[in-house]
Amino acid sequence: MNRIGVLALQGDFEKHKITLDTLGQHTVLVRTKKDLDICDGLVIPGGESTTLTKLLKKHQLWEKVYNFAVEKPVFGTCAGLIILSRQIVKEPVETLDLIDIVTERNAYGRQIDSFIDELDIKMSGMEYKFEGVFIRAPKIVSSGKNVTPLAWHRQNVVMVEQNNILAATFHPELTNDTRIHEYFLTKVKG
Ligand code: GLN
Repeated sequence: MNRIGVLALQGDFEKHKITLDTLGQHTVLVRTKKDLDICDGLVIPGGESTTLTKLLKKHQLWEKVYNFAVEKPVFGTCAGLIILSRQIVKEPVETLDLIDIVTERNAYGRQIDSFIDELDIKMSGMEYKFEGVFIRAPKIVSSGKNVTPLAWHRQNVVMVEQNNILAATFHPELTNDTRIHEYFLTKVKG
């Protein structure tokens, strides 16, 4: 069976692990290069992107994750999406440049720190509503022509895909709806 790594240096990795466990998936909490070596896919959870970047470097995982993502599927949520982005505007942070999107951090403003609202998903030929949990969320301000949008909150694109990379500005692991994680698992199997 495929093994899915969940980067466990910081942030809400436990909730991703629980969701993947619920789906009967073998999961590995990734804290070292060796942990990542045995994985077939990787989830980069939400948290604080500046801290996550520092810790990835400290644990010699920065380049390791980059090289992993060139070959194998990676799913980033919130801070995870920030780290995967090509570029960050306004509050820049160093990124891995693995998906051709430009992202703004903390883009919903201080007044609306966190909120839950309905999203529209269009994925695998299906269209459905999804509960979007946003926590100090980023916004995707632009994306390249090879990036496929998969979810919308009002007029904003909130989930995107490019080859191996799947990235969402919200937290699907904080809902009971497992369909986005299931989609990621089909990428790993495929
Ligand atoms: N605001 C955080 C950042 O800029 C991301 C928040 C999250 O991952 N929930 O890194």
